[in-house]
Amino acid sequence: MDTLPMPGQEQVIAYFSMEIALFEDIPTYSGGLGILAGDTVRSAADLSMPFVAVTLLSRKGYFRQEFSPSGDQVEKSTRWDVEQFLKPLSPHISVTISGKKVLVRSWYYLWKSITGGVVPILFLDTDFPDNDPEERKITDVLYGGDREYRLKQEIVLGIGGARILDALGLRVRKYHINEGHAAFLTLELLNKLKRPLEEVWDEKKVWDTTAVKNLCVFTTHTPVEAGHDKFSHDLVRHVLGEPVPFSLLQELGGREYLNMTLLALNLSGYVNGVAKRHSEVSRTMFPGYAIQAVTNGVHSFTWTSQSFRDLYDRYIPGWAHETELLTRAGAIPDETLWEAHQREKRALLAMIFEKTGCTMSEDILTIGFARRMTAYKRPHLLFTDLERLKKVTRKGKLQVVYGGKAHPQDHEGKRLIREIQGHAHTLRGEINIAYIPDYAFDIAHRLVAGVDVWLNTPQIPMEASGTSGMKAAHNGVLNFSVLDGWWLEGCMEGLTGWSIGPSPLKEDRIPSERLREEIDDLYNKLEYIIIPTYYEQIDWWIKLMKNSIGTVASYFNSHRMMKRYITDAYLHQTFLSYPAGNHS
Ligand SMILES: *Cc1c(COP(=O)(O)O)cnc(C)c1O
Repeated sequence: MDTLPMPGQEQVIAYFSMEIALFEDIPTYSGGLGILAGDTVRSAADLSMPFVAVTLLSRKGYFRQEFSPSGDQVEKSTRWDVEQFLKPLSPHISVTISGKKVLVRSWYYLWKSITGGVVPILFLDTDFPDNDPEERKITDVLYGGDREYRLKQEIVLGIGGARILDALGLRVRKYHINEGHAAFLTLELLNKLKRPLEEVWDEKKVWDTTAVKNLCVFTTHTPVEAGHDKFSHDLVRHVLGEPVPFSLLQELGGREYLNMTLLALNLSGYVNGVAKRHSEVSRTMFPGYAIQAVTNGVHSFTWTSQSFRDLYDRYIPGWAHETELLTRAGAIPDETLWEAHQREKRALLAMIFEKTGCTMSEDILTIGFARRMTAYKRPHLLFTDLERLKKVTRKGKLQVVYGGKAHPQDHEGKRLIREIQGHAHTLRGEINIAYIPDYAFDIAHRLVAGVDVWLNTPQIPMEASGTSGMKAAHNGVLNFSVLDGWWLEGCMEGLTGWSIGPSPLKEDRIPSERLREEIDDLYNKLEYIIIPTYYEQIDWWIKLMKNSIGTVASYFNSHRMMKRYITDAYLHQTFLSYPAGNHS
């Protein structure tokens, strides 16, 4: 099979992402970014968009997480059965890495929507007998290895990906660079659109950056400085060579080192952050760039549990395709909603018992916290003051479930995992706490539907968007979160959930004061609002659950997000945009 079933001669949107999460059995993702890419594909297919996604094969995935008896994360390598899920494509192309030709091929999966829409996902692979052993490993481990390994992966993704699309004969309307990892595709386009010197008479005009900008859309995903990929120019020269003159690369990607975010910013006609607040923060990080906002969303059908799908099918028919209809959540009878929720809760508690041996009760208020374990997410904030936490539960019991992996090199993230497991041990009997190992797609699916409250405590302004709380809202679970990322847009205090700490717009707070206020709010709201409402005002609680579905889920979904990308980004034309910044 060497042709892709693409709609006619139509121009496609080509979406490039280092990770894409399609489902549990294809573990080529590590967390939120990959899940978002998967939801993007799912919505594009549902909306019958001419869309193709490009990612790395990651034969060995990310890693499987286990715990040692003392609560340390143990990383187990995995390997998935590529042939079982993907089909190979015949065009092979090559990219130059460290002066040598490296062959790249692709495999594909067709994501088919019940609406008839189809989105091919191309997985790039260097594991050929013709390549050297080192080169064969380039597409093995997601976010593995050192800087050089990462640079090679990004060459395969950006340059290899663009060449594969050409070899397949696809006409591309826009290249969507999902996070800086894929920014090398801009260099491939610069080369492709190069004008002959005898026509333009000026070295500089050979490189048509405006034409490239018109083809590229860039979404940046993190306000965390370390999250922006950077490479030393020495390494780049050695590994990438000089696909464009070195001085031009410096002008576009930074003088001291190559910053992939900057490269993408300078060569994309439309740039966005993933929530309104995140775009503001990004504009201060990269002054002079017009960074718009398209707030993330999650794929409604995927992240709605079976019990809630049944409920919506009955009371809000058409909801999965026309997600705006979820505003009619008020039509669901209280008891039916509660029964559906308790069914999901029992299923989760059964899973917790099976995976951790921890017994929890369906009558106890259950808090969930699961995401990548890393310092800025502050998973341990709940345990800042253990005496206070115990006091909180005098009015009603609590139980808490955790999940999440730490990147193998994130030592602080790993320490936090150990710390939480320590608290689980100390508090046993008073507050039951379970840590589910190997958090991934299927566990996330259960977790966001089976808890009562979804907790998120990032340090502002580091949470670009966050999406797990949107998944929770689709299942009538209430959010209790720091006002950062999407929650700044989703929170109506006491109506769609609750905030933790002051608004980030109150910039008079010094960090220690803000932390104090956040911790006070966390405990006070639990003790005086959340616990009493749950145990004493179940009718009001159910009303809030309906608000969560009707006001939060109806908006924070990927169908709305994709429609925004279509109108704002994919149909966007750059005539002569803002000057290429000279940020370095
Ligand atoms: C949704 C999801 C995430 C993202 O969680 P955030 O709270 O938005 O950081 C990470 N991992 C998995 C498996 C998910 O499903």
